[in-house]
Amino acid sequence: MILVLNSGSSSLKFQLFDTSNLHPLASGIIEQIGEESSQASLKFTDSQGNPQQISQELSIPEHKTAIATMSSLLKESNLLLHLNKLKGIGHRVVHGGETFHQPVLIDKTVMAGIHDLIPLAPLHNPAHLMSMEVTMEQAPHTPQVAVFDTAFHQTIPIHSYLYALPFELYEKEKVRRYGFHGTSHGYVAKEAARFLGRPVTSLKIITLHLGNGASAAAIAHGSCQDTSMGMTPLEGLVMGTRSGDLDPAILFYLARETGMSLNDLDELLNKKSGLKGICGDNDMRSITERIKGGDKQAELALEIFCYRLKKYIGSYLAVLGGADCIVFTGGIGEHSALVRQKSCAGLQELGIIVDPEKNETHSSKARAIHQQQSKIQILIIPTNEELEIAAQTLELISSPTTS
Ligand code: ADP
Repeated sequence: MILVLNSGSSSLKFQLFDTSNLHPLASGIIEQIGEESSQASLKFTDSQGNPQQISQELSIPEHKTAIATMSSLLKESNLLLHLNKLKGIGHRVVHGGETFHQPVLIDKTVMAGIHDLIPLAPLHNPAHLMSMEVTMEQAPHTPQVAVFDTAFHQTIPIHSYLYALPFELYEKEKVRRYGFHGTSHGYVAKEAARFLGRPVTSLKIITLHLGNGASAAAIAHGSCQDTSMGMTPLEGLVMGTRSGDLDPAILFYLARETGMSLNDLDELLNKKSGLKGICGDNDMRSITERIKGGDKQAELALEIFCYRLKKYIGSYLAVLGGADCIVFTGGIGEHSALVRQKSCAGLQELGIIVDPEKNETHSSKARAIHQQQSKIQILIIPTNEELEIAAQTLELISSPTTS
């Protein structure tokens, strides 16, 4: 079995896969780590094929205890006796900087490299390291792999990743665009190629990952050329609570005029902006419901969200010199017909024509939603970052050079 771990600053998500076919066997989450009371839950299918769910409320002060809780949940459910019985463990790591371009086997040097990148991901990289320390201690002979969110974007050319700032800020402070959601963009691009029955190396693809965080990527021949998130996941598209692109001088203005501190501004842009800032709601489902009820502020939030998305689609058509397909993914991309319809509206001259009926059809499968005369194919491809991490982990630990 392969275990995939995704540790956030106060959470730990985990998923167990069958090594032979990468079929998911169980998934769980531990939330509110470090708070007074934490929640742990596990979902799995028992040996009779019946779906089961276990939920517990307990005190989990840090990631070490979270891993122990996960291990006992998996043991109690007869899914896994001990972490050392695993074929491999895949760790999602948010920031690999310029150091990591692909998945790597975790050892002391790799952990030191992830540690050096803490200033670029102060909430995430320390949590990843804590989880790694525990799993390495408990299963020292089980190969463990780090899969980086930034790695897929490392092919972006320098004219696209460099900001127009003094060059020494790049050299000394590592200030540049890195991009995020790389595992998802890479996965859906490959799946889109499979859906179209063509090699990914023959395609120009625009991928739109629209979840609570949202980002776009321009991919040519399987390698990423540009992406909307930057040095941090704040740049680019409008998101649930993040502003995305804005004039940086707004920050100086607000600091001068209102006395807001650096922390206030950080919180404003990351937690109080985006859809939430405009209409008070960051959940696209409730925004859609409010619009149906005639709510003008919710409608404005949706307009701004879709307009920004359309601008990125247009700019990535220019970056790639046209595209073979556009891929929608993530909670909003996969489920919001309204967002897909609005962000593609009026683009028929550019070869983008959505079929309204196909767009409204609900399914959890990959599908096409364009009209026959649309030059660019428009696809919905459900993302699955955990599966991709499991696949990359298995590939690396099975390769002859690493075994
Ligand atoms: P995360 O980035 O946290 O993984 P998801 O990819 O699950 O988030 O996406 C969450 C977003 O998807 C939320 O804005 C949610 O409202 C939206 N969403 C989920 N289902 C639907 C739906 N049926 N219609 C519209 N939006 C949806």
